[in-house]
Parts: sequence; structure tokens; C-alpha cells
Amino acid sequence: MYIVMFGAPGSGKGTAAKILAKRTNLPHISTGDMFREQIKNQTELGKLADSYISKGNLVPDEVTINIVGDRLSWNDAKNGIILDGFPRTLAQAQALDKILEGLGQKVDIVPEIKIPNEVIVERILNRATCSNKECGAIYNTKFKKPKVAGICDICGSTLMTRTDDNAETIKSRLKVYEDNSKDLKEYYEKKGVLLPICPEDPTAENASEQVVEKILRCPLCKKR
Ligand code: AMP
Repeated sequence: MYIVMFGAPGSGKGTAAKILAKRTNLPHISTGDMFREQIKNQTELGKLADSYISKGNLVPDEVTINIVGDRLSWNDAKNGIILDGFPRTLAQAQALDKILEGLGQKVDIVPEIKIPNEVIVERILNRATCSNKECGAIYNTKFKKPKVAGICDICGSTLMTRTDDNAETIKSRLKVYEDNSKDLKEYYEKKGVLLPICPEDPTAENASEQVVEKILRCPLCKKR
């Protein structure tokens, strides 16, 4: 099953994608994580990506489509994947369809997590992520606190704050999302795969678990 998690930055799609990956045994592919790994390793791609990410802008389509195309050719992506943060533009969505067509596959479901902007800003400004790449658990120092401040409950690694999670870049990241989301939503709506989800209480500790339950209960998810 090919799942595209869709929603504004800070909507909780990353956390939901991680839970969903465990429940379905499908690989979780986050373009943001892929770029952050390249930045950490100071590769040419990382340096290029950082010049966009640090300003809250999108990395160019051709670069992003290339890395996703490559990742989708791996063996573990044969039975499906959970994409998180991709596609973010119509051109990326069209490119994804082409790549999947080449693999004899298609996007099955696009859960769209809808959260008010005020909550998004609060979430992003208080987000803390586990520094252990294998774990990557996401916390919120207000809504979903770790048991010990600064330490991951799951693996004991230190928690870190993303450099692009600041008041300055949030504005541009939300604007970029608003500019692109209409076209993307229309695109997936026409294909009949969009599943809008409005969490009852997006600040609840188990908000992401509830989102995942809704996705798994959707008939689009049971087609295969
Ligand atoms: P995320 O972790 O999904 O919030 O992504 C962090 C940043 O990486 C974004 O603000 C973009 O600058 C960049 N990025 C991630 N995914 C994409 C994408 N599909 N297209 C372009 N830029 C992306």
C-alpha cells in the first residue's frame, strides 16, 4: 500500500507516519529526514538542501524528486511505503505517479491532517525530536512531554530541536504550504484518494494514535 501523509508542517504527519509504519510494517520515508541526514553529513546535497531549508523554502523539485525516485527503487519499497513530506508540489505529485506507474503501483490513500494554524505554531515551537536516527521519536514540551526533560522515553538518547523550528521560518513554511496545498488537494481529490482528518483534540497526547486509527479504518486502506 502506498500512503502519502499530507498536512502542514507541524500537523503531526511525521508522528502519525511513524506509528503507521509500525502498524503496517511499511517503510517510513520522510524527505525532511533524508535532507537532515545529508546536512549532518555535510554532503553537497546537504549543503544545497540547507540553503533552502534554513530559510523555510522548498528544496527544488528536481532534486527532491531524484532522491525519492532513488529511494523508491529499493527492495523494501516493493510492497508499499509511507511517504511523509513528499509530494509538496503538484510537479512532485505528478512525478510520484510516474515513478509508481513504472513500478506497477499507485498512490492508495492520502490522509490529510487538518489542524488550526495556532496549534501548529505552538507545536513547532515546542517540538523536540530524538537525536537517535533509528528512533526519531517526536515530543512536544507542552503537549507530549518526555518523562525526563531532554531525554527520549523510548531509547534514552538526548532530544534536539530542529534548526528550522523557529518563529522566523514557521511563517514561510506555512505560507509555502498554503500556496501549494490547494493544487495538491484537488489533484488527490480528483483521484478519489484524499482522506481529510480533523483530530477532535489535536493537543491530546494520543492525537496521532487517533489519526492512525482513522487511516486504518478507511476503506481505501483495506483495498489491498
Ligand atoms: P519536514 O521535515 O517535512 O518538515 O521538511 C523540512 C524541510 O525540508 C522543509 O521545510 C523543506 O525545506 C524541505 N523539504 C522536505 N520535503 C520536501 C519536499 N518534498 N520538497 C521540497 N522541500 C522539501
